[in-house]
Amino acid sequence: MKKITKSKKLENVNYAIRGKVLEEAERMEKAGFEIIKLNIGNPAVFNFKAPKKIVESMKDGIENSHGYSNSKGLESARKAIIKYYEGKNVHGLTPDDVYLGNGVSELIQMTMQALLDEGDEMLVPAPDYPLWTASVNLAGGTAVHYICDEHNEWYPDLEDIKSKITNRTKGIVIINPNNPTGALYPREILEQIAQVARENGLIIFADEIYDRLVFDDLKHVSIASLAGNVPVVTFSGLSKSHVICGYRVGWMCISGNKECISDYIDGLNLLSSMRLCANVPGQMVVEIALKDCEEMKAMLRKGGRLYEQREFVYERLNAIDGVSVVKPKAGFYIFPKVDVKKFGIEDDEEFVLDLLKEAGVLVVNGSGFNWMEMDHFRVVFLADVKVMERAMEGVERYLKSV
Ligand code: PLP
Repeated sequence: MKKITKSKKLENVNYAIRGKVLEEAERMEKAGFEIIKLNIGNPAVFNFKAPKKIVESMKDGIENSHGYSNSKGLESARKAIIKYYEGKNVHGLTPDDVYLGNGVSELIQMTMQALLDEGDEMLVPAPDYPLWTASVNLAGGTAVHYICDEHNEWYPDLEDIKSKITNRTKGIVIINPNNPTGALYPREILEQIAQVARENGLIIFADEIYDRLVFDDLKHVSIASLAGNVPVVTFSGLSKSHVICGYRVGWMCISGNKECISDYIDGLNLLSSMRLCANVPGQMVVEIALKDCEEMKAMLRKGGRLYEQREFVYERLNAIDGVSVVKPKAGFYIFPKVDVKKFGIEDDEEFVLDLLKEAGVLVVNGSGFNWMEMDHFRVVFLADVKVMERAMEGVERYLKSV
């Protein structure tokens, strides 16, 4: 039979989180090796349980919502989302500005598909959550990476952003709190980014899926709350804050001046209606979930599971000779730096592959997050401290051996 190949559109699209290292881990597991998987941000795998109320509400949704909803989503869910953002000082949203999605992932792809033509540029952070770069490229645009600076708490480098704007730049993506670095951006940085967007006519795409996972009593500020008339598309969802990645519940809302992006909004509405609607039982949990984020908050406080796991992994990684790391302020990822000269690392994918084979620890290489050097890897710190301890011992033992 004639060989059928994949679309050329995919030539430029990478998604290392599910790449060759994961395939090797799956092969090793089948062969009977125990692998400590610190590679994917899926709390359910680490024995985190969804709040009971949410599970009940999903069951109720399954029994009582068999049909399609409005393509943007249930009115009740959209109103609950508007109320949530009012609490974060994002005012003036109407139900028309809110779109429910099957996770934030679907909406990221939708927003890029509706916006970009060949040659259009999108500013994307390095490192990033790689779906962003992949979605820009898949949509035919070009992801132009701006640096987040490890020496400055991994905050976006404003000068680098400014230097990369061209007449083809249509928008800027910010991931705050950040995956993979765990950075939480202060108000001043957000104000400066908003100003750059205003001066250059850019749309801001703010991925805030970790906004309810902030440590140390710090406060997350939504850039939409201080961007005034700059068009902002804000994304969030329940995968992480309510431990229900598998329910696929996400949303986005559009704020700022909508007149100047009305044609783009037409495009979004078209794509939104083409997928008919997001999973309706999932939408039914939004209202109840946003009223109660207490279970997750308790895990983030001193003595709480996520807090203790962060403390442990941060101290333990820094104690390894040749490894250094910035302390995460939010989320459940940490992005350590390795001394590539000391360990003779030339290719970070080979490095994490060797680490997997030698120590049975699965992490993701930094270049998988579009980081341009070969000197970082990402650890998901969702596993309990005992498991993390074994994993970190494995990392240390492996690094001592090379
Ligand atoms: N954005 C970021 C920064 C993420 O880390 C993730 C998942 O890890 C997503 C979006 C996708 O989340 P969802 O489960 O809502 O599709």
